[in-house]
Order: sequence, then C-alpha cells, then structure tokens
Amino acid sequence: MAYKFIDNYREQGARKKLVELLKERGITDQRVLKAIGKVPRHFFFDETFWNQAYKDIAFPIGDGQTISQPYTVAYQTELLHIQKGDKVLEIGTGSGYQTCILMELGAKVYTIERQPSIYAHTIKVLPGMGYKASFFLGDGSKGIEEHAPYAKIIVTAGAPFVPEVLLKQLKIGGILVIPVGDEKSQKMITVIRVSENDFDRIELDTFRFVPLVGDQAW
Ligand code: SAM
Repeated sequence: MAYKFIDNYREQGARKKLVELLKERGITDQRVLKAIGKVPRHFFFDETFWNQAYKDIAFPIGDGQTISQPYTVAYQTELLHIQKGDKVLEIGTGSGYQTCILMELGAKVYTIERQPSIYAHTIKVLPGMGYKASFFLGDGSKGIEEHAPYAKIIVTAGAPFVPEVLLKQLKIGGILVIPVGDEKSQKMITVIRVSENDFDRIELDTFRFVPLVGDQAW
C-alpha cells in the first residue's frame, strides 16, 4: 500500500537542515545521521503541522502520543551501535519513528507498546511506510521473554530503575540503553553485558521522558 503523504522538496530540505543541527549538537555517527536524513518524519504528523516536523522538538501527534525529539532518538540510537541484522527490542513504540530509524540501520526490531490506541495506530502507519517491524501490545518493562536474547534493548520511556529482567534478556556483548531517574528527569544509562554475570554500567546525560509504566517500572 502506497502511503498517502508525499515527501516533497520542502520537507526534504527541512530534513537536511535537521541533520546539520544534530551534527552541531554532537551526533557523529554517520549512519545514524543518514537514517535521520532518510525517514520522512512529517509522515507522523497531521498535514497542518508539517512545519513542525523537522524542528528538534518532541510533538504531540494524537491518540495521546508524542513523537520523540530527533536529538533524543539520534542520541539513543548512537549508543546502541546497531549492526546489520541485530535483534533489537524497543520498549515504548509510541509513534514508531524510532523504530524506523533502527530499521534503516538494518536492525530486526521487536517493539512493544502498552497503550492499545497507540499500538493500533502505529501498526497501521509503519507497514504503510514500508517498515515491517514485529509489533507487540503489552507491558515492555518485563521485556519479551519468548524472543530473547536480544543484541540490543532500547527503552524510550523513563524508568525508576534498570529492570533486572531486561538484563537477563540481553545476549553476551549486548547493550541496553535506558533513561533512569524520577518523574522530572532521568540520566541516560547504558549497560553492556560483558559475560553471563558481569555488566558494565555507564551514566550519561540528563533527559526528560514520559514514564515507563508497568510491573518493573512506575
Ligand atoms: N519512541 C517513540 C517515538 O519514536 O516517537 C516515542 C516513545 S514515547 C516517548 C514512550 C512510549 O512508551 C509511550 O507511547 C508509552 O505509552 C510507552 N510506554 C510506557 N510504559 C510502557 C511499557 N511498560 N511498555 C511498553 N510501552 C510503554
């Protein structure tokens, strides 16, 4: 099915400017920048708001959902060091924009969303754009055990702690990227599983995410 929107010159130009802005803000991974330069972010917006689509801001896009800020998407993606064919678990599908960026890098994405209305919307939009991820509805704070282990896990909502169960679903050498903190602000954490029982944890910059709500969350 062809998607109803058109990727015209004005949007393509705005997208190039967004890539330049992300470079200025410190994103250096050329593959991530290329993916941001390719995915038509305005397809996630109502046409009335296309003029907002390539600003470096999060934006409400209906169904109670927000599309993440491009800088945040690029930042988390860069930390994942995606290799072609990596099995990636994304917790918090939301708009699906982050999913598309991961797929542009060659990841095989399993993505889970807890809100039925958001899930119902995104499972229609993404395949219509040509992005065929594996979509799940449910509480991602427990991961998705039946498809584990994952090479990478990305959490796109703010957690109160790093859920132990997610660490167990990482393969050896795998990377988890998760914002952890209180409701107001979170530190971006990366955890690398170096062996069966050893994990390296690094704390990075501060962000503000919507809360991760669930069994192993708020
Ligand atoms: N990554 C998305 C994007 O590219 O636009 C934005 C994600 S939005 C910031 C966070 C999402 O996480 C929301 O849609 C929220 O409903 C979802 N969420 C919160 N807790 C969750 C949980 N336990 N399991 C799955 N999804 C969850």
